[in-house]
Amino acid sequence: MAYLVFARKWRPMFFDDVVGQEHITNTLKRSILADKVAHSYIFTGTRGVGKTTTARILARALNCEKGPTPQPCGECGSCKSAISGSNFNVVEFDAASNSGVNDVKELMESVNYVPVGNGSNFRVFLIDEAHSLSKQAWNSLLKTLEEPPANVVFIFATTEPEKIPQTILSRSIRFDFRPIGEEAIFKQLAKICDTELIKFEDNTLRLIARKANGSMRDSLSLLEQVRSYCEGELNERQAREVLGLISVETYVKILELASQRKIPEILEIFDNSLNDGYDVSEFIDGFMEFLRSLLFFSIKGNMSEDGAANSYKALWEKYGEGDIIRICEMTAQTQKELRYSSFRRFAAERLLVKIANIDRTVTISQLLDFFKKSEDGSIHSGEFDGRPEFGEEVKPREINPPEKPQTQAALSEPKTQDLPVKKPEKTEEIKERKPKIRESKETVLQNYPIISYIMDKFDAEFVN
Ligand SMILES: [Zn+2]
Repeated sequence: MAYLVFARKWRPMFFDDVVGQEHITNTLKRSILADKVAHSYIFTGTRGVGKTTTARILARALNCEKGPTPQPCGECGSCKSAISGSNFNVVEFDAASNSGVNDVKELMESVNYVPVGNGSNFRVFLIDEAHSLSKQAWNSLLKTLEEPPANVVFIFATTEPEKIPQTILSRSIRFDFRPIGEEAIFKQLAKICDTELIKFEDNTLRLIARKANGSMRDSLSLLEQVRSYCEGELNERQAREVLGLISVETYVKILELASQRKIPEILEIFDNSLNDGYDVSEFIDGFMEFLRSLLFFSIKGNMSEDGAANSYKALWEKYGEGDIIRICEMTAQTQKELRYSSFRRFAAERLLVKIANIDRTVTISQLLDFFKKSEDGSIHSGEFDGRPEFGEEVKPREINPPEKPQTQAALSEPKTQDLPVKKPEKTEEIKERKPKIRESKETVLQNYPIISYIMDKFDAEFVN
């Protein structure tokens, strides 16, 4: 038997095999059981999510010799001829290459032929890429849709539902096929590999599932590609090579260097990647994907996905949510720019330099904490209890007691911390501390000019 690619070999034969579209397949099964099949359906969704496959299963379900049934047998003459594409009752029409009015007129003439076969059969017209039809073509279709012959079902499959005329939409039942989730694709790929006796690392299949971007068909083609390339077990390293994905370690290194502001070293890594044959967009898209994993590391706290937990943890200590989100936004901006720019390489280089130069973000709660400590004297002037500066080594903070003013009044009076409830009077000690708070605030303002307006709000609290 000739070799069948995975995308064909694993094309679902039954409604229950269609991955991630249960909201549609369950409704169709119920309609068949209740004998309430509509005359016209619109199947919309991005490519590779199961539109044509579901339409073909519906056609078989309606024509199976044991049917109409939600579970077409796949073995009777009608099912077999439908599978091989030679069933008279099932007409597939590619609107992309037959978009003219004459093509559709010819098709409509055949609508009036009665279905052949045993039992109550249906003629099913599957119009693929329906958005390509011309206005006149739609008009000649409309006449038939207004008064459809009994036992005729139209299924319009399209990736661009906004191009379907309202008059057609209002006479049809619309089903929106969703992009398939990564987890669902991963499970399906794992099932296929088990059946095909292909050994794999989980990470490799997750990588493929992510790269497929919601398309089951794409994921099967990618699986095929990776399998042809990998020797023995499907492994992440080789999969990254064949899928044109840059290693996680490369991106980890870049962020580590960025935290030390080592720009020449970062640009060298970027340079080497391009010399290895990676495209600028591949590099930046991969970086975005990496940032996503890094961000989710904090949200989910689960790194089974790519096993880079230790590197992620170290980066998270250096950066933090605010910084990672800012880097994501900067990267998204560069992704947009890359689509139109003629200076693609420079756009990416600029991004890397910007990342190495970003200032730390600071949360409001960190600031409030800082000022609270400044006020009660448990923090030194100029000391900020946030994350360390980039490039600094993380050291445990030494807490020195604030210097006491050596005035006679301060020495003779009881210590203010011994009287926690009673509000201290405005002694010389308190007055002397004020300039320190002002200095701390200015240090903060110098480092974080963006938040200066927030600081103004604190003036009344801390300076008056
Ligand atoms: Zn059958």
